[in-house]
Amino acid sequence: MTKLLFHDDSYIKEFEAEIEEIIEDTVVLNQTAFAYRGGGLQSDTGHLETTSSEKYKMIEAYFKGGKVLHKLSPPPQKGLLNKKVSCSINWETRYRQMKMHTAIHVLSGILFKKYGSTVTGGNITPDKSRVDFEIDHLRQERVEEIVLEINKIIAGDHPVSVSYMKREEALKIPDLIRTKVNLIPESVKTLRIVEIKEVDIQADGGVHVANTNEIGEFVSLKSESRGKNNKRLYFTVKP
Ligand SMILES: [Zn+2]
Repeated sequence: MTKLLFHDDSYIKEFEAEIEEIIEDTVVLNQTAFAYRGGGLQSDTGHLETTSSEKYKMIEAYFKGGKVLHKLSPPPQKGLLNKKVSCSINWETRYRQMKMHTAIHVLSGILFKKYGSTVTGGNITPDKSRVDFEIDHLRQERVEEIVLEINKIIAGDHPVSVSYMKREEALKIPDLIRTKVNLIPESVKTLRIVEIKEVDIQADGGVHVANTNEIGEFVSLKSESRGKNNKRLYFTVKP
C-alpha cells in the first residue's frame, strides 16, 4: 500500500521513493507526494530520477484497482523494479491547485452559512476552476456579495488543518453530515478531515494551502444557470 505523503503535508515538493511494481506504462511507489487525479482535482505532474541518473517524466497519477499508478514517459523498463528514485513535483501548477481547492472550501462554507446552499460538484485546474451548487439564483449582485465574503475570509488568516476521525464520530458532526460524509464508502473507517477554522469542515482527500491568506484574490469569471436550483460559477485566483 503506497503511503500518501501529501495527505499529511501538502508542501512536499521533492521526495525519495522505491518502485514496488510496474504495470504497463505506470509504476507503483512505496510512498508518494504526487497528488492523484480525483475529486475534481487534476493530477500532479513532475519528474523521477534513478540513482544512475535515468530521467522520467511523471505525466499523470491516478487511482485504479486500489493502487496509485504513476504514468511515466518514456515508459518504465523492467529493470526499474525495486529501484530507488528521487521524485519532484511541478510545484507552480500544484500550488495553484491547492489555492483553488481551498478557495472552493471557503466558498462551500459561505454558501452554506449564508444561503443554506450546498456544493454539488466542481472541477479544479491551475488556471480556472468551476463549482456547482444548489441555490435559487445567482444574479450579479449575489455573485458580488459572495466574492466579497470570500475575499474577506481569505484576508482573515484562517488556518487550514488536517486531522483524522473515526467514521462513527464524523457521522455525529452536523457540518460533516451536510457535506455528505455518509456517502463515503462504509469500508473507509478513518476519515481525513480538512477544517478551515470558523469557515468550513469536510472529509476530503485533496491538497490544500495551510492558511486562507495564501489563496490570493478570488476573482469570479462567469456565472451560469444549469437549471432551476443548480448554478455554476467559474473563478480564478490572483496573487
Ligand atoms: Zn475538497
